[in-house]
Amino acid sequence: MTQKPDIKSYNYTELQEQLKNMGEKPFRAKQIYRWLHIEKVETFDEMTDLSKELRKKLNQRYELNCLKKVQVLISKTDGTRKYLFRIAGGSVIESVLMRYHHGNSVCISTQSGCRMGCRFCASTLNGLERSLTPSDMLEQIYQIEKDIGEKVNHVVLMGSGEPLDNFDNVMKFIEMVSDPHGENISQRNITLSTCGLVPKMRELADRKPQITLALSLHASDDETRKEILPIAKKYPISEVLDACQYYFEKTGRRITFEYSLIAGVNDSLEEADRLAALVGKINCHVNLIPVNPIEERAYRQTEKRAIQAFKSRLERNRINVTIRREMGRDINGACGQLRNEMMKNP
Ligand code: SAH
Repeated sequence: MTQKPDIKSYNYTELQEQLKNMGEKPFRAKQIYRWLHIEKVETFDEMTDLSKELRKKLNQRYELNCLKKVQVLISKTDGTRKYLFRIAGGSVIESVLMRYHHGNSVCISTQSGCRMGCRFCASTLNGLERSLTPSDMLEQIYQIEKDIGEKVNHVVLMGSGEPLDNFDNVMKFIEMVSDPHGENISQRNITLSTCGLVPKMRELADRKPQITLALSLHASDDETRKEILPIAKKYPISEVLDACQYYFEKTGRRITFEYSLIAGVNDSLEEADRLAALVGKINCHVNLIPVNPIEERAYRQTEKRAIQAFKSRLERNRINVTIRREMGRDINGACGQLRNEMMKNP
């Protein structure tokens, strides 16, 4: 990575500070922040209301980090777009645009690769390459907006990587993407998904963001959960659920539990009853995800009828539940799948 500081990763206050240190007037920060985060220019020369001299000075001092679009796949069935971007340092990450009637939703990566080792996940097969900076995360949204010529309305941190394993950068990203001086996406339209890093979940709660917390539960007993998510060896379900309750108490935001159904592993009706008993006391919503089988692992999808039965069983136990629509199945929609293909056949 380059030595120059990354100007797009400064929040508004930090940018003001930088300009002040350069001996510039404070209103310059407002202008520059607008160029970076509303106009989304890719060079300092496009900042036409700054003097040539100041543009040159900025160029000498700062890096203007932009992601390079390597590939875009467009689903024929639902218009979902999958993007591969090249980040500084050379590796690639992926982001997904889903188009719903209520607006454009982008699923971003928070790390290149991942070190959590979840058994069904393609993102983790080659370990962690590096954590993404705030500007790497913002850029996934900005580049997609440029590509489609429309605004993004919702952001989900559910691409490659564990957001809470990149805590400071992710917190700054959330602050910046919701800043009215810039992208201005309401925190209520942001969802962060975690495999359950308990101390970080509590730290997040203490900051009282207005984002939705989604917890990857995937099992109702510790033994099964440990088989799927190695991190469960460190944090038992009871502690993870306490942290979810704590998040609800601090923020008033309903928790989402993600539950990927894997044939013969976690999809029996008894399992549904246990799950209901476990999460029933929490103000929550359960999102069932049909597992997306990856070549490297022998997991199979639960049949459609059994997924419906699992859902009905939860509903009978008065749990709010939805089945995640499988978007972009024809373009390798699941986390890390496209990136992996690229790494196998560059
Ligand atoms: N690291 C975060 C975000 C990752 S992905 C987390 O663990 O929550 C978002 C969701 O997709 C998680 O619930 C993850 O467990 C799930 N997931 C990953 N790969 C999957 C696959 N092949 N099939 C079904 N769900 C998958």
